[in-house]
Amino acid sequence: MPSSKSERPLYSLVIPIFNEEAVLPVLLRRLDALLAKLDGPAEVIIVDDGSRDTGSIVAAARARDDSRYRYLALSRNFGHQIAITAGMDAARGQAVVIMDADLQDPPEVVLDLVAKWREGYEIVYARRLSREGETWFKLWTARLFYRALRFMTAVDIPENVGDFRLVDRKAVDAFRAMPERDRFVRGMFGWMGFRQTAVTFHRAPRLAGQTAYGWSKMVRLAFDGIVSFSDAPLRLALWLGSIVSLGALLFGAWVVWESLHQGQFVAGWASTVVLLSLLSGVNLLMTGIVGLYVGRIHAEVKNRPLYVVGRSVGFDEDVAAASDHAAAPSGPRRAVPALRLAP
Ligand code: UDP
Ligand code: MG
Repeated sequence: MPSSKSERPLYSLVIPIFNEEAVLPVLLRRLDALLAKLDGPAEVIIVDDGSRDTGSIVAAARARDDSRYRYLALSRNFGHQIAITAGMDAARGQAVVIMDADLQDPPEVVLDLVAKWREGYEIVYARRLSREGETWFKLWTARLFYRALRFMTAVDIPENVGDFRLVDRKAVDAFRAMPERDRFVRGMFGWMGFRQTAVTFHRAPRLAGQTAYGWSKMVRLAFDGIVSFSDAPLRLALWLGSIVSLGALLFGAWVVWESLHQGQFVAGWASTVVLLSLLSGVNLLMTGIVGLYVGRIHAEVKNRPLYVVGRSVGFDEDVAAASDHAAAPSGPRRAVPALRLAP
């Protein structure tokens, strides 16, 4: 059911591509089949994250020929998480689905996501039951990373969940009201709450082509996740400093006691050692205190809304959204400037 470009679709599918020429033809075929099964008008937004292959041509041509498809090319490779953000800004649907292009996220699963959305869930993420075609090392590091992240943050970021998910318009608007530059998308959705649930699926190996998530990108994503959602590393210095200082004090007292009573140390040793350990303790402690303030600044500059309103009853539409602190479902406080799409 082709919908004209002016009509607002019910569903938006946001799909970032980066050098995906090998999978695009199959992807488009599977998407056509999916669109035919969806219970409402849908748009597919292909965000080209600076591809350097013929995928750009194929995707743009499809957008020209088929009004259900839209093609948005970023000026260079900005990275997966930014590409998703650009797609979410452009999406007009009531429900927005984020998925990978390489068919590791099978398009058919979208029907399950939609079913949960129809039940009233605002964020439906797809949890992988298995991950075929991935090395034990990737699985192991991913597991370790999620353990660490859960340990360090209060935000509930589910394990075995990538960015494949459906989000309701309310959550999209809340997402767009989060202006932070380091965007760890799955963490941001975890942060905002709402009624969330999961559907499970088997993750197939990448259909063709190569993963763009090499080593350095994986590590960067992991760091973004930790640094954006936890100030535990900053507080580490404070803890270490306290422990070292306390240890130094006790040790110092013992050294002084010993040298006064037994005098068994080489001259100068006692004062040197005590000074050294005490000063390094104080140093760490001070670094930790600075860290506390840096943590506050970090939280401020992220400029997130303080809370997200899920639902309001008995308010005028605008009253609930009036607070400066809130990301109200009816509109983002500081929306990222609207994208202008060339026809
Ligand atoms: N991708 C992107 N920009 C990048 C890297 C990847 O838009 O810089 C897209 C890619 O085309 C795919 C999705 O993000 O649709 C996931 O990438 P990939 O399959 O390489 O990651 P993996 O599944 O191996 O984690
Ligand atoms: Mg992949």
